[in-house]
This record gives sequence, structure tokens and C-alpha cells, in this order.
Amino acid sequence: MQVDYLIVGLGLAGLAFTKKLEEENKSFIVFEDDSQNSSKVAGGMYNPVILKRFTPVWEAEDQLKIALPFYNELEIKFQKKYDYKVDIYRIFKSIEEQNNWFIAADKPSLSNYMSSKIIHKKFKGVLSNAGFGKLTNTGRIDTKELLKDYRTYLNNQNKLKGESFIYSNLEIANNEVVYKEIKASKIVFCEGFGLQKNPFFNYLPMQEAKGELIIIHAPELTIDFLIKAAVFVMPLGNNYYKVGATFNWKDKTKNPTEEGKQELITKLDSFITVPYQIVEHIAGIRPTIKDRRPLVGKHPKYKNLAILNGLGTRGVMIAPITAKALYNYLEYDIKLSTEIDISRFY
Ligand SMILES: Cc1cc2nc3c(=O)[nH]c(=O)nc-3n(C[C@H](O)[C@H](O)[C@H](O)COP(=O)(O)OP(=O)(O)OC[C@H]3O[C@@H](n4cnc5c(N)ncnc54)[C@H](O)[C@@H]3O)c2cc1C
Repeated sequence: MQVDYLIVGLGLAGLAFTKKLEEENKSFIVFEDDSQNSSKVAGGMYNPVILKRFTPVWEAEDQLKIALPFYNELEIKFQKKYDYKVDIYRIFKSIEEQNNWFIAADKPSLSNYMSSKIIHKKFKGVLSNAGFGKLTNTGRIDTKELLKDYRTYLNNQNKLKGESFIYSNLEIANNEVVYKEIKASKIVFCEGFGLQKNPFFNYLPMQEAKGELIIIHAPELTIDFLIKAAVFVMPLGNNYYKVGATFNWKDKTKNPTEEGKQELITKLDSFITVPYQIVEHIAGIRPTIKDRRPLVGKHPKYKNLAILNGLGTRGVMIAPITAKALYNYLEYDIKLSTEIDISRFY
């Protein structure tokens, strides 16, 4: 079999690149072995403001310009909702935080998102002595449903192989790669933290961060916005909420832990006062890079091997724009920005 591309990994990175290939009428085969699940468990939030310091997220405006139509096209394709517009209410801890919020909300790059009015309204079950700062034009993507549907879609066209890609079986020639019975012009690796096992690219400095989340049912909590305090509480509908997330730089497994659960409960109980029941506990590893920028580009020696990784904590916003940049680089030699090009690590 001869195709244009092989793709390894169908998380947000693999999905974004594959979607681009489809638009360009390129043929491909995707390998996916369920060894990682960052994209499946992700909160799926998109938000251009860093909620700790009230500063803009790196290149968020450009990312959202590509990302929002990207998810909308998928909604149309699969006739299903994935993009839920949700405002974010940031609980203030102090008057000083309120002042910092006002200063930030005045900046032209943030004024589209940060409301300059403080919300003093009380919501049942939510402690908020110093009020809330409100962010609009934010939301969440239901990444789990989207990936499930995309997988079925590729499967139905025999474009998905539900198996591990075995690196030692890859043969590399000048103008093609050969993997078992498949010949391809290029291969793009999108394995998230699976990168550690990739002998061609595992020299790149990933500083992965495990994250855990719980899903709770809180019958007396009736909010339709996301609350951000020590953790976020994201409405899923019918009084279900996703709560997260932890950061752990030591544990390299994707298993939920008792320690992670306890941390989430302690943080949640610091501002939610109504009873709740934990109905699910999930975890994944964020593919975060030392310099907090994505990994995009070609192998220094083998030019038909490429990578799309390092989406870190913001895969929802970054995947579509970086997939497009990588495609344009591989097909038309349009230079990548030096900030994302892996040549920064040669
Ligand atoms: C707890 C948590 C909360 C998060 N919340 C958010 C959020 O709110 N908003 C946001 O934007 N981002 C969030 N993220 C980050 C986001 O999930 C990541 O940036 C994104 O999922 C990374 O996507 P990826 O495709 O690079 O990696 P992954 O999702 O890990 O996908 C890689 C895929 O490759 C497959 N694979 C690996 N090796 C092989 C192999 N050899 N053969 C075949 N298949 C292979 C894996 O099974 C996996 O499916 C969160 C992450 C976590 C863990």
C-alpha cells in the first residue's frame, strides 16, 4: 500500500494534522494504541488569559482564530456539539487581586475577554468573599467525544490501525519510509508523552506533567459557568462537574492515585460548601516542554520524519495552528517560527 503520510498517535495533535491532510486530499494511515490519554481526559478549556497572573497566554489570539473555526467544522462534519461556550468566574482571594484584575482588563489584548466589573453576587455553595472576575469568549471542547467520533470515522474508512507503532520496524529511504506493507512519503509522530519511546525524537527535552481530575455530582450546585479558584469546577450539565487538575512532575504513569484525589478534594472543599459525590477519577500526562513551546519540525538527519508534539497544557488552542504550520512546512517549505521549530534544540 502507498500513502502520502503515516501518522503515529491520534490525540489532539494527530487529529489536527489528519484533518489538515483530509482537507488537502492527501492519503494517510494513522496508528493509535491507547498508551496515552492526555487528550481524552483533558478539561478541554480554551481561555486566552493566564488565571494566576492575569497575563495573556502566548499567541492566544492567533491560535483561537484558527481553533474556533476548526472545531466548528468538526461539529458540522459530525453533526454534533463539541464546543461549549462557558464563561469563567475567577474567585478573588484579596483586594490586591481585584486591583491586578482591573489593571489587566484595561490592556487592549485582554479587554475582549476580561470584564472590568467585579461580580459580587452570591451563588449557593460557592465561597467568594472578595467576589469574582468574569471572563467571556471562553469555553470548553468535549475532546473525549470528538476523539471518539473521529476515531470511528477513520476506522470506517480503514485509515486507522489500532495497534502500537513499532519504531524498529521503520525503514527510512531518501524519499520515502516503509513500515511493514505500507510505503509513505512522510511520517509524522504525534505521540504526546509516548515521545519518550521514540528513538528518533526522544532527545527533545520533554518535562511532562501528570494531571488528575475528578467528575462530581453536586445536586445543590447549579452554576452554568466555570469557577476557577484553587482548582477549576467546570459544568458538564445535570449538576455534574469536572474538577481539576493536579500537576505532578514525578509520577510518569497515567493511573489515577489516592494522593491526587485527596489533593483535589482538599482544594475543592476550600470553596465549595455543598455536598457532592465523586463519580469518576481520571488522569493523563501533559506533554509539556522545557521552554513551554510546542515541538514542530523535521528530524535533523531524516527529512521525511516529522514531529507535532509539546502541546503542553493548552492542546485545544495550539493543535490546529501548529498542525497547519507543520503541513505548510512539509509541503511548501514555508518556514516555521523559531519559537516552535525543534531546530532550537539541535
Ligand atoms: C488532567 C489534564 C487536564 C488538561 N486540561 C486541558 C485543558 O483544559 N485545555 C487544554 O487545552 N489542554 C488541557 N490539557 C492538555 C492537553 O490534554 C494536551 O495538550 C493534549 O492532549 C496533547 O495532545 P497530544 O495529541 O500531543 O498527546 P496525547 O493526547 O497524549 O496523544 C498521543 C496519542 O499517541 C498515542 N501513541 C503514543 N505512542 C504510540 C505508539 N507508539 N503507537 C501508536 N500510538 C501511540 C497515544 O495512545 C495517544 O492517543 C490537559 C491535560 C491533562 C492531563
